[in-house]
Amino acid sequence: EMMKRRPLVVANWKMNKLPSESSAYIKHIEKELIRYPDVISVLAGQDVLLPAMLKAAKETSVAIGAENMYWQEKGAFTGETSPAALEDLGVTYVIIGHSERRNYFRETNEMVNLKAIAAIAHRLIPIIAIDEPIVQGDDNDRSHWVVNQVIESLEGISAQQAQHVILAYEPTAAIGSGQPITPELAEFSLRRIRLTLADMYDWPTANAIRIMYGGSVKPNNALELMRQPDIDGVLVGDAALNPDTFLELCRLA
Ligand code: PGA
Repeated sequence: EMMKRRPLVVANWKMNKLPSESSAYIKHIEKELIRYPDVISVLAGQDVLLPAMLKAAKETSVAIGAENMYWQEKGAFTGETSPAALEDLGVTYVIIGHSERRNYFRETNEMVNLKAIAAIAHRLIPIIAIDEPIVQGDDNDRSHWVVNQVIESLEGISAQQAQHVILAYEPTAAIGSGQPITPELAEFSLRRIRLTLADMYDWPTANAIRIMYGGSVKPNNALELMRQPDIDGVLVGDAALNPDTFLELCRLA
């Protein structure tokens, strides 16, 4: 029997907020969030915001995530953040391999895989982002791009561990453009990802893994996206910078 997957709304603040702004945002949303107990709400911020975010989120239902991290435990890697430090701080989630990381910072599937493994080892829940430069819909040639990212990102991760991993499909052109892809196309891509997971593992595992859609999600398109059977949540950049819009997305989820 297929297990029910709890819907997720994840805000990706990217490099937009200041430490002094982060607690006001959380104070603004904490009360109303109690009305949506079925929804997992996550705020991801820059590393320097995390202590303030965690402090403000204590005793609320908001979970806190990092936007990136390195895979080494510790050592001479000036400027990087270790998974051990995130764990020690009390962070719950970490976004790995966002399209901006892949494109501006040259992150490869292999690096994403190392980070995912390190996250699991430190009890952080990885949100592995899968991008697609040109959405090809049901043209099966190009599908290898997405399938390949899923396979390479999860290499060496057992079925047991994979159940706790979250994937986020974000077509590159939809990110920050105001132009999401259609719910049908998004569902097609997420279905393809779930089929890949079923091939790699088995159906119970594939059905347990949460897969999100990201790319220009707004209250006016979120409902149709989240109604798709394989879309378990949304990863939201621009629209989630506003706390009222974030709440609206949680209500819709
Ligand atoms: P966007 O960003 O909602 O601004 O398109 C989504 C993301 O990059 O995670």
